[in-house]
Amino acid sequence: MPVIGTAGHVDHGKSTLIHALTGIDPDRLREEKERGLTIDLGFAWLTLPSGLEVGVVDVPGHERFIKNMLAGAGGIDLALLVVAADEGPRPQTAEHLAILDLLEVPAGIVVLTKCDLVEAEYADLVEAELEDTLSGSRLAGAPVVRVSAQSGEGLDALRSAIDTVLSRLPAKRNLGRPRLPVDRAFTIQGFGAVVTGTLIDGSLAVGDEMELFPAGLKCRIRGIQRHRTKVESLGPGTRAAVNLSGVRTEDISRGMVLARPGALKAVTSLVVRLTASRIVINPLAHDAEVTLLAATSESQAKVRLLDADVLGPGEECWAQFVLDFPVAILPGDHVVIRTPNETVAGGPVVAINGRRLRRNNGPGIAALNQALAGSPEDRVLEMLRTGPLTLSAVASQLQTDERSVRETWEVLISREAATEHEGRLVSGEWLESRAQDLLLATSEFLSANPLRRSAPREHVRSALRIEAPAFDLLLRTLSGSSRIETRGAGIAAPPGYEPVLTPAQ
Ligand code: GDP
Repeated sequence: MPVIGTAGHVDHGKSTLIHALTGIDPDRLREEKERGLTIDLGFAWLTLPSGLEVGVVDVPGHERFIKNMLAGAGGIDLALLVVAADEGPRPQTAEHLAILDLLEVPAGIVVLTKCDLVEAEYADLVEAELEDTLSGSRLAGAPVVRVSAQSGEGLDALRSAIDTVLSRLPAKRNLGRPRLPVDRAFTIQGFGAVVTGTLIDGSLAVGDEMELFPAGLKCRIRGIQRHRTKVESLGPGTRAAVNLSGVRTEDISRGMVLARPGALKAVTSLVVRLTASRIVINPLAHDAEVTLLAATSESQAKVRLLDADVLGPGEECWAQFVLDFPVAILPGDHVVIRTPNETVAGGPVVAINGRRLRRNNGPGIAALNQALAGSPEDRVLEMLRTGPLTLSAVASQLQTDERSVRETWEVLISREAATEHEGRLVSGEWLESRAQDLLLATSEFLSANPLRRSAPREHVRSALRIEAPAFDLLLRTLSGSSRIETRGAGIAAPPGYEPVLTPAQ
C-alpha cells in the first residue's frame, strides 16, 4: 500500500484537500490521536480509480513535516506539493521542495488549490511562476493539477494523476529484512504495547519473534492492524499498528526500530554522501554540531567533512558523523541534517560504525565512492527487479566473474530475498509483484467472461508482457503454493474456481 504525503506553505489548503480526497478530516484524526482514540494516527486513506488503496499523511508545522516525511522514509512514495492559486509559491513552498529533494522522495504532483478563488488566466500566471520555483528540483516537470477543495472540481483528475504516477513507480523493496521504525508507542487496555510506523524492506506476520533496536528488547508480534482492520501479515511499504508482547510501553520510544532478532546494530558513527540544500543560508562547516534525523530517530552529532571545509548550497561531499545517542540504521538509509534554524543537508548512509576517517585522504575517498555504488547483494537485487536471470547473465552485467556472483547469490538465498529455479535466480520481490499482476489479469478475464472456467495462458501472459520461460516459472510457483490451478491451457484462480451464473445469464 503506497503512502502519500502533503507539502506546502501553511494555509495553502493541505488539510482541506486531504479531507476532500479521503472524506477523513485530518484535524479530527489529530484530536483523536491526542486523546489516544486512534491507532492509525493522523492517517487518512483513499481508494484510487484503479482500486489501489493509498495512505495519506498530513503534517502541520515545519519541524513535524520534516520528521513525518522522514518517518515514511522508504514509505512515502509520492509528495503532493500544495500551492494556493490565489497566493502562488511562498517561502515554505521552496523550503519543502528542497527537503523533498534531500529525502529523494520518489515522485511528486503539484496541486494548485483554491482555483475557485481566481480566474483561469490568473492560475496560468501562477503556474508559470511555479515553473521557476520547481526548476532544478525533483519536481521539475511534475504534473500540475488544478483543484478546488471547495467545489470538488479537479479532484477526480487528481485521483487519476496519483494513480498514473504511482503505477510508474517500481514495486516496494522486499529484502527479506523487515524494519519498522517506531513513530509512536502506547498501551491499549487489555492488549499491552502497540507501536506504529511504516514497514519497509520485508514482511511481518502475527507470531513473529522480533527485537526493538538499538535497545535490544526482545518481543513477539501479537496482532497487526492496518487502516483499522486486523490483518495476519503485512507487506513492505505499509503503515500499520503492531501489538507486541514481551515488552512494556514505558521501555519503548519513538526512534526505535522493530526488526528480526539480531538484524540491526546500535550505530554511533556513520559516513554519509552529503548534499547541501539548494537554499541553505548558513552552510554546514567542518566540526559543526548538528541534529541528525534518520527515519523516526534523532540524535545530536558532530560532523566531520572529509573532503570539504564548508558545504555551500547544492554542493556535495563526504561526511562522517559521531552521534551522541545510538540509532539503528543501515547503509542505504537516508539521513537529514538540521541546525537549530535550518535543514542544511541530507543524503544516503554509506558506512556504519567504521573507524575515524582521515580528512582529504585520496584512497579513502575513492573507497567511499566505490561503496556508494552499492553492495554486491544490492546490485544483484536491483538487476533482478526486471525478472529472473542466470548466473552468467548477472556476471556479465556486473562485469565480474561467476565465482563472486555465486557467493552473492548464496547470501541472497540464505536471506530469503531470492530463490533459484532451474539455474536462474528469482527475487522474491519480482515473484510477488508479478504474482499479483497474474492474479489480477486472471480474475479480470474471468469476470469479463462469466461462462469460462479458466483464463487462457496466452491471454494472461500477454497481459503481463513477460517471456514464456519466466511466465512458466511464475505459473509453477503459484500452483505449487495453491494460489492458482492450471487447467489444460487455462488458469483458474482461486483453485477450484467455478463460474456461477446470475438468473439473467
Ligand atoms: P493547510 O494549513 O495547508 O492545511 O491549509 P487548510 O487546509 O487549513 O486551509 C486553509 C484555509 O483555506 C481554510 O480556511 C480552508 O477552508 C481554505 N481552503 C482550502 N482549500 C480551499 C479551496 O479549494 N477553495 C477555497 N475557497 N478555500 C479553500
